[in-house]
Amino acid sequence: MSSTRQLRIVAIKRRGRVLRHPLLPCLARYHTLNLTAGCPNECFYCYSQSYEFVPSWGTVAYYENTLERLRAELPRMKKKPELVYFSTYSEPFLPIEQILSAQFEIMKMLLEQKVRVLISTKGKIPHRFVSLFAEYPGMVHVQVGITTVNDRVRELIEPNASSVDERLDNLKRLRGSGVSVEARIDPLIPGLTDGNESLDSLMREIVKCGVRDAVASYLFLRWGIYPTKEIAYGDWSFRKMRRLYTLKVTDYCGNGIIWLPPTEYRRERYQTLKKIAGSYGVRIKLCRCKNRDLTDECCHPVPPGEQGNMQQLRFL
Ligand code: SF4
Repeated sequence: MSSTRQLRIVAIKRRGRVLRHPLLPCLARYHTLNLTAGCPNECFYCYSQSYEFVPSWGTVAYYENTLERLRAELPRMKKKPELVYFSTYSEPFLPIEQILSAQFEIMKMLLEQKVRVLISTKGKIPHRFVSLFAEYPGMVHVQVGITTVNDRVRELIEPNASSVDERLDNLKRLRGSGVSVEARIDPLIPGLTDGNESLDSLMREIVKCGVRDAVASYLFLRWGIYPTKEIAYGDWSFRKMRRLYTLKVTDYCGNGIIWLPPTEYRRERYQTLKKIAGSYGVRIKLCRCKNRDLTDECCHPVPPGEQGNMQQLRFL
């Protein structure tokens, strides 16, 4: 982690179900597990801060009884979960030993019970998790969030998340251990991380890690996603960037309103991204929820055999 910010951890008891269905339509048939409410990464674009139950930056609520409740909950479920997604509003690899240990036991228990695990992270993945995942080939898929190889830009947008080098190291170790992994180039930020040079450097580094798959999407704006203070880098500023957000989407993921850069802007940039990625042998998929005007692809992998028009991504 790049920041020395002191985190306040508040241990609380979970009352309801541990496994819940995500709201995202493409993952709704699966389950999600959040071991904490609140996240130390403090990405400026994070919408979790708009949820009432999520504490303000600097505090993380840790559901300390999750493991024991899950142990009791799993045998009671009518149908065994197919896949559990980590996580919808928190970082799965929160760098606090007590929380990491609980997370390890939870993932191990799911894998032992043949439940697939899908992970999205901007944290540093401890070695013991990589070793665990390697023991379950085809059962784990990891998306490592990385949108730039400029660590100053990374620090501006995701101040307390892991550094660029740590994320590249995640990709390398996972790939080297035979774990299914891809880069999650999301959210691309217009004018800051979507220039040709930036995309080219990113692809070059991803390929050095042995990774050949990536998903990409642009930052979307909606209520709850506004930095509390103006952020700027060189000629770029959030204030100026906002002027590009002229496309209103009124049924994002089935409901809710979001704002996006215009179709033509995204079409051109995605084409360029795919061209640059292709020159390095990297395949790019987009997210249809955020690009319904452009694609039917899905940025989440689905297990082989899944029906529908989602692109199938193999779990190795
Ligand atoms: S990692 Fe995810 S949950 Fe954590 S601050 Fe960033 S966007 Fe929010």
